[in-house]
Amino acid sequence: MDPYAAYARHVNPGLGRFLELSGRDVRFVSARDTVLQDADGETWEDWIAGFGSLNLGHNPPAIKAAVASHLALDTPSLFVESLNPLAGELAARLTEAAGERFETCFFGNSGAEAVEAALKTALLATGRTRVAYAEGGYHGTTLGALACMARGPYRDGLDAVLPAFTPVPFGDAGALEAALAAGDVAAFLVEPIQMEAGARVADAAYLAAARDTCRRHGALLVFDEVQTGLGRTGALFACHHARVEPDILVAAKALGGGLVPIGATLMARGVWARAYPGYLRAEIHNSTFGGNALACRAALATLDVVGDPAFLAGVRRRGERLFAALRAALRDAPIVERISGLGLLGGIALREGQHPWTRWENLGLAELAGHPVVGALVVERLARRRILAQVCAHDWSVVRVEPPLTVDDAACGRFVEAVAEAIRWVAANG
Ligand code: PMP
Repeated sequence: MDPYAAYARHVNPGLGRFLELSGRDVRFVSARDTVLQDADGETWEDWIAGFGSLNLGHNPPAIKAAVASHLALDTPSLFVESLNPLAGELAARLTEAAGERFETCFFGNSGAEAVEAALKTALLATGRTRVAYAEGGYHGTTLGALACMARGPYRDGLDAVLPAFTPVPFGDAGALEAALAAGDVAAFLVEPIQMEAGARVADAAYLAAARDTCRRHGALLVFDEVQTGLGRTGALFACHHARVEPDILVAAKALGGGLVPIGATLMARGVWARAYPGYLRAEIHNSTFGGNALACRAALATLDVVGDPAFLAGVRRRGERLFAALRAALRDAPIVERISGLGLLGGIALREGQHPWTRWENLGLAELAGHPVVGALVVERLARRRILAQVCAHDWSVVRVEPPLTVDDAACGRFVEAVAEAIRWVAANG
């Protein structure tokens, strides 16, 4: 059996065909830090970083060592119906690091699951039935999270079964005020940076206004930091830059050190108890593998690294240099509309070209007609230099800038040079 072909046949035929058509059916066999190696022995630099899951790079030695030494013990893996010391320690450390208001933490196994916990807990804690969410966001593909996602292919065909939650334009404090004014909204869900909407960075004043508006109308403020958290922006959580504390903070992805799945829903004092009072309700929100020992061990080791102020300062420094270099290199590039970023998370927004050939329908993918193609052309050009890049999920005209946080200045320099060349080539030919 050829296991790579088996993936395309048995796991995701659509993706398999797309990768084959676009020449991206690379067979990766190993990965270390910022670099992947394929079956032909070629190396690829990773500028996708598992969509923010590989903050410490591939197979980070510190996390591997923590996992290996954990596996050498016979610690219970699941503490079903008993006190779980690893979940206890992780929750204590996470809530303390997140901010003063936090006290409890629910553990699941993914970002979507952590978002679900946030929404459900907010609905129960407030006794209200509506959720408001910032338009353009990405929160996961389960039904509750999907009900807060941008419209488009992710939710097409499902609107009839999704709860009719209320979209509010991102960055618009006045619109949020209006949406919450009736006093019937349980929670407002927003990302400090809407990465999948094209690396749209919320400003501190907006986040502070959202904090104030939610408080006045009795709604819980929920920050989805699944992608912005764990050091990605040069702070442990992106909301620390703005000094705004939500009522619920959602983390996942990089929390498992890139090796194990884990999601965490951090809640301000009292929120959990309001939602789940008494013994009968104490376990009505649960997840069997949530808080399992191995995942918690990996997360504790991850926190040791990303919680270090020197590590965070390094991310800020390299991020500033990277975005300054991108701006300088692309200053005169005619198709660059915007470059935005914070820490080592951001994007390059591009204008669509005029050439009639550079349309999806002329590239053999008629189904994608109407979607921007310019970002994919740049990504394809980067792949020729074995740089793995990708566009934002909801806005394909934006090339994401999201390396592992362990990236060095030399690798950043290679990316800047390659992306500038790719953009100039697309501008000249597309
Ligand atoms: N929220 C945000 C902000 C995300 O970026 C993602 C994943 N891209 C999710 C939630 C969903 O996480 P997961 O894929 O682990 O369910």
